Amino acid sequence: MPVKQFRRILVKLSGEALMASDGYWLDPQTLSGLAEDLGAATRAGFEIAVVIGGGNIIRGARMSAAGWIDRPTADSMGMLGTAMNSLAIETALNAAGVSARTMSAVSMPSICETYARQPALHHLQKGQVLVLAGGTGNPFFTTDTAAVLRAAELRCDAVLKATQVDGVYSADPKTNPDAVRYEKLTHDEAIAKDLKVMDTAAFALARESRIPIIVGSIHAPSSVTAILNGTVPSTIVAP
Ligand code: UDP
Repeated sequence: MPVKQFRRILVKLSGEALMASDGYWLDPQTLSGLAEDLGAATRAGFEIAVVIGGGNIIRGARMSAAGWIDRPTADSMGMLGTAMNSLAIETALNAAGVSARTMSAVSMPSICETYARQPALHHLQKGQVLVLAGGTGNPFFTTDTAAVLRAAELRCDAVLKATQVDGVYSADPKTNPDAVRYEKLTHDEAIAKDLKVMDTAAFALARESRIPIIVGSIHAPSSVTAILNGTVPSTIVAP
């Protein structure tokens, strides 16, 4: 389904998308592939903001479940993990000749700019890839919710949630040959079906802000542009 009418896009990547096949937390080759992909999307005329997760390093809920650390502290560590991933993506983008800026919801002025809406809009308007670190800046949230929040604030036309598969399926397509891919869903349907592709808080905010969520595979060549131009399959969750 072509979604060409979208121009300003927030791309949500999970931290695991950066991992090496041997389990190392960061793979330079994967990073440069992502940077090429995001650079191609800007050259195709899209304005791109990126929210990257931290699941390749720490997930606060899982860590605090072990009992030795409280949830807010573990989540703070998770947010710092997203900052490390953001700096890695910014570096890869710059190496690929793509101008990029990292802004963090958690203030760390000697490392990167602190997120503020107006300067963030300015970076986007200049055609820079805006890398948004630190999630929402608050514990008990995820970077999926941060992605929708920033998309709403920055008037993005859609969130592109990059995953391992080319959309939302009725069952796990890796284990169930009868699984079918949904072409289109409403936010209400996504919430009612308790789809695991994003958490309920993220879907609820997207519903309230009327922000479409496009779910597509990170593994397609030039995946971001291909998904946005509708030349590869995806699922769109829209009002
Ligand atoms: N996190 C947080 N607040 C936010 C976003 C993230 O506390 O607004 C923490 C939380 O501990 C989370 C971790 O950062 O588990 C990494 O983010 P996430 O789990 O969303 O990463 P992903 O699964 O996308 O790699």
